[in-house]
Amino acid sequence: MARSIGVMAAEHVAVGAVEDNRLTGPLCVFPKEPDRKAEVLHSMPAHEIAFSIVETIESARQGEAVDAIGVGFPGIIRDGIVEESPNLQQVKGFDLAAALTAALRQRGVSAPVVVFNDADVTAAGIAATSGRLDRPIRVWTLGNGIGFGRYPWSEGVWEGGHCVVTLDPKEHFCGCGGKGHLEGIMGHRAMRLRFLDMEPEEVFANAKAGDPRCEAFVKMWHRALAAATASSIHMSGPGEFFVTGLNARFIDLGLLNRYLHEMVKMTPLQGSYFEVVATSDDVGVIGAAVNAERFARASA
Ligand SMILES: [Zn+2]
Repeated sequence: MARSIGVMAAEHVAVGAVEDNRLTGPLCVFPKEPDRKAEVLHSMPAHEIAFSIVETIESARQGEAVDAIGVGFPGIIRDGIVEESPNLQQVKGFDLAAALTAALRQRGVSAPVVVFNDADVTAAGIAATSGRLDRPIRVWTLGNGIGFGRYPWSEGVWEGGHCVVTLDPKEHFCGCGGKGHLEGIMGHRAMRLRFLDMEPEEVFANAKAGDPRCEAFVKMWHRALAAATASSIHMSGPGEFFVTGLNARFIDLGLLNRYLHEMVKMTPLQGSYFEVVATSDDVGVIGAAVNAERFARASA
C-alpha cells in the first residue's frame, strides 16, 4: 500500500503520514507552542521555512519509507517554485520543491516532492474525507487570504481570491495591491483595514444588531463571494462549492444562494450549491498526500 507524507504549510507547518486517504497517526506540527502557531511563517526567511518543513517531515516519517510527499503552500506555484505569495512575500521566486528535495536526499529520502497551492490541497482533502474523490469540486478558503481550490488538481493559476468583483476604484484593500478584488472585501486582514475601529467578529455581530454600515458591508461581503462564484460557473460550469477556513463561520447560506441565483440565469449553468465545512490541519495534510500520490502515479 502506498504511504505518502502530506504537508500543510500555510500559517504554521502540519505534517502527517497518509495511507489509503487516511492519517496513520497524529500530526506533527511546527511550532509546537500553540501561541506561536498563528502566522509564524510570516517572519521566517524562505530557507528557514524549508528547514522547518523538512524537520517536521522527518518527525512524521519516523524513519519509514514513503512513496510521495505533497506540500500545500499559499501562492502561485509552478513546477515547485513559489512564483508569488502575496501573504508570504519573502518566499517569492523560491524553488521550494528543489530545496525540500535536496534536504530530504541528504536524509536518505528520494520520494518525489510536489508542491501545490494550499487551497488545492484543501479541496483534495475535502474530496478525500467526504467521499467525493470521483467528482470535481471547488473550494473557497476564507482567511487572511482568500483561496480558491479545485479537485482534481490541474495545471493553472486559479487565483480566484483575486477575481475582480467591483469596479469601484476605492476598493483597494487586497493583500496583492490590486483594486476591486474579492480578497480586498472578504479577507480577514482587508476587513481589519476597512474597519479600523472594530474586529471582523464585531462587524458581523453589529450587522445582526442592525448597524447600517455593518449591515451594508455584510451584504457586500456575501455578494462578492457570489460574484466570484458566478464567474467560476460562467467559465467552468456549475457544481459543488465548499466554503471553509476561519471566516466561513460568518457565511449566511440563504443570502449567498440568493445572490448567486441573481447572478447566474442561464439554464445549463443552474444547479450549483454551497456547503460550509469546517476544516482542520488534518484535511489539508490528507489532501496534500492524495494530490502527491495522484501526481506521482500520473508521471510514473
Ligand atoms: Zn488581489
